[in-house]
Amino acid sequence: MNSRSREELREESSDIRFDVAIIGAGINGASLYHELCGRGYRVLLLDKGDFACGTSQASAMMVWGGLLYLRNFDIKAVVKFSLSRDRMIERLDGRVRKQSFRYIPDSKGRNRWLTLSAFYLYWILSSLRREQPSLQRSFPESNLINRAEHNLGGILFEEGMLNSSDCRFVLDWITKHSCEGQVALNHTSVEDGAFSKQDKCWRLDLRDQLTGEESHARAACVVNCAGVWADRVNGQFGIESPYKHAFSKGVFAGIKKATGHEVPLIFELGELDDTYLCLPWGPVSLLGPTETAVATPEEGFAPEKEDVEYLLHHANRRLSTPVESSDITMLRTGIRPLVVERDYEADVYPLDLSRRFQLVVDEAKPWFSTYGGKITGCAQFARKVADALTRRVGDAKRNGNHANGALGQVERESFPGMPEPVPSIDWCISNEACCTLDDYLRRRTNISQWTSREGLGEDNEHLPEIKRLAKRLYPGLATKANRVVCDYVNRVEQTFDRLTGRQLQRNGTAKN
Ligand SMILES: Cc1cc2nc3c(=O)[nH]c(=O)nc-3n(C[C@H](O)[C@H](O)[C@H](O)COP(=O)(O)OP(=O)(O)OC[C@H]3O[C@@H](n4cnc5c(N)ncnc54)[C@H](O)[C@@H]3O)c2cc1C
Repeated sequence: MNSRSREELREESSDIRFDVAIIGAGINGASLYHELCGRGYRVLLLDKGDFACGTSQASAMMVWGGLLYLRNFDIKAVVKFSLSRDRMIERLDGRVRKQSFRYIPDSKGRNRWLTLSAFYLYWILSSLRREQPSLQRSFPESNLINRAEHNLGGILFEEGMLNSSDCRFVLDWITKHSCEGQVALNHTSVEDGAFSKQDKCWRLDLRDQLTGEESHARAACVVNCAGVWADRVNGQFGIESPYKHAFSKGVFAGIKKATGHEVPLIFELGELDDTYLCLPWGPVSLLGPTETAVATPEEGFAPEKEDVEYLLHHANRRLSTPVESSDITMLRTGIRPLVVERDYEADVYPLDLSRRFQLVVDEAKPWFSTYGGKITGCAQFARKVADALTRRVGDAKRNGNHANGALGQVERESFPGMPEPVPSIDWCISNEACCTLDDYLRRRTNISQWTSREGLGEDNEHLPEIKRLAKRLYPGLATKANRVVCDYVNRVEQTFDRLTGRQLQRNGTAKN
């Protein structure tokens, strides 16, 4: 990716007849792109926004072995996901690490010995590959917990965790491929298209979302990895499927990490069999997530007042130190794509719906639809899709592994409030297709997640830095750079500040 400019990539996307076009560059699309490039296919990866800008930027970053499935005694799923987790820990060294978690039973919840037995069963089902679970009455994070609600100690057990962020995890699958015939284009939407029986290939109509320019691409086969938009994309192309997605909105709030908070805490809620996480991540702790059924993706991608109230309510019940809305330094929201039968209409709590992957191969046309899924098992899923694809379109014409390996030395620079230097904006523009402020602040770095008010700082004290970044993104276009910064500030004020009560305080300060 690093050796070609965006213009060159777009030209290549029009000139080449690809073996496969993947619509959607979240975790599913990116891991599939990696798998297919490695097998020597000519692959086009497209995303209407940035790589990982959908659900994949909003996860809890846990690589877990299917603990949730024990609720329904789905032993097969637990064995499968535990194996996937352990392979990821083993094979993706540097990107996935093993991580201890502490499960904190509710004082009025299930019998804690029964709960401990469930963790033992979980451990046995993963062939004892992880640390043996243990019940501890007192532990370093005890002082963070509200003992009135949780006085039964904590169960320590081991899972996996992404090392830096979910966005970086996605990017890492993509950026190592830069051979001819491997094209990954962000901010490029698939608007329409049709299959030509004569040419035996799909013609896709593309639009560059940054410039409005239109272009076309050709591919022998298409894989729909559009996550919560997959049904819509299938509809555009007239593809029918026995499945569809149900949507569940998940919101996390971030607060400044308490001293000594190193191990993620999973609180038993005692309601709907759900849990509440307090997850240390860099300088913040993530609280949540929510689990709310929504009717459309649009309805779900913005956090609402009720989401913040729910998160604060549980923080104040579970934690020893009170949390107020003004303590929230960031919010992150995503929608889980949950696979259900096409005629599904039931109104159940979304946690009761399966988190499994599903692949549907169209019988008439070379079109593959992917549903559901999670970070755990994404590599296995990519292999499964690639195998199905090979059966359908044959082996790649080229031999060998076409991965170029990791990008060269990362240039770094500091940003106020960040614990360590971050990849520099110039480096990200040249090497990682970074095109917008959001691309940089949210997905190439964790600035908008780790420093307050999406990187602006409590009193806009980081604004000069944000302006400097905008100038690097739009060299020689001062008006454009200014407008982009104004839009960014307005958005933070209208969403984050409004939800956390800061707008009132800020206006109040201004008046005084
Ligand atoms: C709150 C929360 C916590 C979670 N925690 C975990 C966890 O700890 N562990 C775990 O394993 N999983 C977790 N998940 C689930 C996991 O994050 C998702 O299953 C996964 O990110 C979905 O990836 P995806 O590639 O299917 O979808 P997405 O990441 O949404 O990618 C789909 C992409 O398709 C693009 N697209 C759509 N339409 C078009 C078009 N017409 N043209 C071009 N591009 C298009 C979108 O822009 C988007 O980037 C969590 C989810 C949520 C919401």
